[in-house]
Amino acid sequence: ETPLVEVRGLRKSFAVKKGWFGAAKYLRAVDGLSFAIRQGETFSLVGESGCGKSTTGRLVNRLLKPTSGEVWFNGQNISSFSDNQMRPIRKEMQMVFQDPYASLNPRMKVKELVAEPLLIHTKLSVKERDKLAQELLETVGLSSIHAERYAHEFSGGQRQRIGIARALSVRPSLIVADEPVSALDVSIQSQVLNLMQDLQEEYGLTYLFISHDLSVVEHISDRIGVMYLGTLVETADKDTLYDRPLHPYTQALLSSVPVPDPNQKRERIILKGDLPSPVDPPSGCRFHNRCSACMDICRQQEPVFREVEPGHQVACHLYNEA
Ligand code: SF4
Ligand code: MG
Repeated sequence: ETPLVEVRGLRKSFAVKKGWFGAAKYLRAVDGLSFAIRQGETFSLVGESGCGKSTTGRLVNRLLKPTSGEVWFNGQNISSFSDNQMRPIRKEMQMVFQDPYASLNPRMKVKELVAEPLLIHTKLSVKERDKLAQELLETVGLSSIHAERYAHEFSGGQRQRIGIARALSVRPSLIVADEPVSALDVSIQSQVLNLMQDLQEEYGLTYLFISHDLSVVEHISDRIGVMYLGTLVETADKDTLYDRPLHPYTQALLSSVPVPDPNQKRERIILKGDLPSPVDPPSGCRFHNRCSACMDICRQQEPVFREVEPGHQVACHLYNEA
């Protein structure tokens, strides 16, 4: 089966400043990613802020063009599609953002916000759009009487529901959700995550879910990719990643995730040093200055991202073939 999304050697760099003698410096936000997202699954990208996960989301949705590498969507290489070629595909890929308040226009009524993608992508009349908007509000657990109000009249969780209704309006196949619950209280987080899971089942949605927090993605994910400084360091299905994390960075991230059973408490691993700049990533393994298992080879040679067991990839010299 063709994956809904396939990313091959994806790179995106941004020119940041002119260095000595006018040489341009580049921020390598995304630096060689390969992964696939199957139809109907939730694939989560997790990593510290600045690791390139938001840029990856925007590259997948073609809100950004890659510097090199390819994005395949539904069997088509859309990497260099023109705006015209993208038009029918845009409808298929929607976005849900972290801060629903910042991403929702304060001067638009909720029904207009929800129906805006319909205005862009369909020829429905105002009446038809209003009717659909009311239905969508009910679908996401709000009421159609909310349709005439403005986004600022709602709580953070309700605003995120509005953002989800809006994304859902054009019946996309893919939703890229960039930190959709990070601005919400923990109790509200699980409500929104449950809603997203229900909608996934009902509409056969595929999610690319972006988060800095491994505890947020545990329940919603089928597979998880851990990112560090623009690269993937480990990819595995959810259970494998939480039970047998291989990469020292994944192990450190996981050590701070609370476990329900206190007897199984994970030993907390505190990472030394700061996140290096993506303008000048460290030589060899990019994680070497913070890794307690660092070996000589790690400073010199970049580890290859390779499959160590079916469906489980890791980039670390600890797991080289002997
Ligand atoms: Fe640590 Fe070396 Fe593995 Fe990098 S390659 S994570 S430095 S052991
Ligand atoms: Mg981000």
